[in-house]
Amino acid sequence: MRVVIVGGGFGAVQFAKTLRRKLPASECEILLFNRENHMVFHPLLADVAGASINADAAAAPLRQMLPGVGCRTERVQRIDLHASEIEFDDGNGALTRLPYDHIVIACGAESNLGIIPGMTEHAFPFKVMRDAIDLRQHVVRQMEQAEACSDPDRRRWFLNFIIVGAGFSGVEVAGEINELVRSSTRFYRNFRKEDVVVTLVHSQDQILPEVAPKLREFARKKMEKAGITILLNTRAVAATHKGIELNNGRMLAGATIVCTIGTAIAPLVQNLDVPKERGRIRTAPEMRIEGQTNAWAVGDCALIVNTFDNKPSPPTGQFAERQGRQAALNLVRILKGEPTQPFRFKALGQLCSIGGYQAVAEMLGVHISGFLAWFLWRGVYLFKLPTWSRRIKVALDWAWDVLFPRDLSFLSTDSTQNVTHAYYLPGDYIHRQGELARTFSIIEEGEVEALKMTRQNPEPQIVAVLSKGDFFGESTLMGDHPHETTVRARTVVRLTQIGSGLFSQLAGASAPLRDLLSRTLSRRSGDFWRRLPLAKSLLSDEPLASLLDPLPAKTLSKDTTFADAVAALNESPAGGLLFLDEKQCLWGTLDRNDLYDMIARIAVIPIESRGDITQRKVSELLLTNPLYVSLDDSAVAATATMLDHGISWLPVIHSKDDLRPVGYLRGERIGNRIIQKIAHTEADHAKVAS
Ligand SMILES: Cc1cc2nc3c(=O)[nH]c(=O)nc-3n(C[C@H](O)[C@H](O)[C@H](O)COP(=O)(O)OP(=O)(O)OC[C@H]3O[C@@H](n4cnc5c(N)ncnc54)[C@H](O)[C@@H]3O)c2cc1C
Repeated sequence: MRVVIVGGGFGAVQFAKTLRRKLPASECEILLFNRENHMVFHPLLADVAGASINADAAAAPLRQMLPGVGCRTERVQRIDLHASEIEFDDGNGALTRLPYDHIVIACGAESNLGIIPGMTEHAFPFKVMRDAIDLRQHVVRQMEQAEACSDPDRRRWFLNFIIVGAGFSGVEVAGEINELVRSSTRFYRNFRKEDVVVTLVHSQDQILPEVAPKLREFARKKMEKAGITILLNTRAVAATHKGIELNNGRMLAGATIVCTIGTAIAPLVQNLDVPKERGRIRTAPEMRIEGQTNAWAVGDCALIVNTFDNKPSPPTGQFAERQGRQAALNLVRILKGEPTQPFRFKALGQLCSIGGYQAVAEMLGVHISGFLAWFLWRGVYLFKLPTWSRRIKVALDWAWDVLFPRDLSFLSTDSTQNVTHAYYLPGDYIHRQGELARTFSIIEEGEVEALKMTRQNPEPQIVAVLSKGDFFGESTLMGDHPHETTVRARTVVRLTQIGSGLFSQLAGASAPLRDLLSRTLSRRSGDFWRRLPLAKSLLSDEPLASLLDPLPAKTLSKDTTFADAVAALNESPAGGLLFLDEKQCLWGTLDRNDLYDMIARIAVIPIESRGDITQRKVSELLLTNPLYVSLDDSAVAATATMLDHGISWLPVIHSKDDLRPVGYLRGERIGNRIIQKIAHTEADHAKVAS
């Protein structure tokens, strides 16, 4: 008989151990598939992030923990419950199918930062070992940056640490970061303990909602005394490179954001066609999946009712372990033809460390807080660790931590070789004129404006608008000089940013990319204005409204059919069309290039599902995010935007808050206006001369 276990956390390991003890290898082959070759002991992740233990002490190698169990690191891609087979990548690019007699799904849950805009780009998740290691490196790097920084505001920013969510993991990680940074200030000269700010942001009116009110209160007071600022009834609504925006409109600045809220269902579970509740697999009380005879689910991915209190089990390691053990015993009972037992477990208690050798504990109904609770916390977790070698390793690390300062070494990674993502709110500066270039940025979503100051005109002027698919930063990186313009977000903006080192390698290795960049450079408005400075000065006092072509008498909606849009494009004097949404706001634009893109997109739709393309709505085929300027932009900025994009027409809207179009600009009209003005200027000169 073959039993396949998917996952290698608390539930899976306990299932495998119990089953191996009960059934000899000759009777049953047990195969455990876990993406990592180790089990992560989550309760110790905060200690890893706070540098009080080393990462390897909180990760136990599965094959050493589970003798007699086949441990595999392939990711299971699919489970075919009808055929009783799993599908996984064999490492050579092919999918392998493997039959089983029983399967146990214990693949946990994943973190999901996508619930708050900008978190994915700017916050650290706190779920897997890599998160804790990266966070530790980052925290130490912030101290080094603060030490080197001469600007007091920026130094404060490096020393501001924000933790979102005050459940167990948020409280533990806030306590650990606070302890690490404050206890390390004595090794730095440029900042003191008082400069460090650790803020815990929580949407409810109490931290640690799972523990007794008295202990919660104790934890809050102790943490505040240790210097942690706790913001209750406060929600993070967005994260940017500057910090987080709160629901009360306040901006909380900080170079470090840790997001401990937000979970997502594991993709394997998402794709499984079984009864689910809030994404978790529903099981019978014995833990077989509802409607299945040989498929089981335990741990965070499963919704298992605890018959002790008839409530769904909470997603904790304590419960996952018990479920794993009892599910294995139930499988043995089934094999022996005995009746199964429903899941029943009385939780032993709660333990939470709050930093500074303090903790709160609720054990078998007894409440303990302070140093004694902290000692208990450490003792309990030490003995919960899966192997004796781990226990000794962690005990030595903890003893070291009590006697000696925390380890401040970090492996520096070359940030110039990275690809990262960034999220900006309207008005945020992406870089400023005169700063050194670090990244090449590609706009994934939104619109930015480039502003320029000159000695003659110290007030920044908008010189171009860039939108989705555009890029910037290349001229500075290729020319190795500081930024010539400031770039600011006009709307919410998402960027992909390529570090300067990686960008140079890419541009060096790829001739077509180099070619595209140099063509963009020469097309960009800076070059045009340099060649024709008079045109810029003539346009600078020209109101944008005087250059507008009126909107066509009949405007098109985004529900216009493809056939009607093509016919209208043929008739359009501008060579482009505007489409409006229900509120009469600009929804999209279409010119010849967009038409080619649409045709390319149609070509990849399978013939059988294409239907009558001519009758498909434009909104189904056209990508939105149109480029436009508003009436409050200058004629120079609008012209530069057209030059930068190599386009001959551009829609104009009322304002950034009112997206109703008022007309459009055409290159020919702008050119005519410049020529008229030059002619006037020359005539005036001639008059003066005569
Ligand atoms: C920071 C933190 C602190 C915590 N502290 C506590 C605490 O103090 N006490 C407590 O009781 N609980 C705590 N928890 C919760 C506890 O860790 C979880 O409830 C527990 O880990 C759930 O166990 P599990 O077996 O369901 O899954 P997990 O432990 O999450 O393990 C799932 C495993 O499945 C693997 N996997 C997923 N998909 C696939 C696939 N397709 N193929 C192969 N492998 C796959 C994953 O890589 C992972 O290793 C904490 C959690 C966190 C994040």
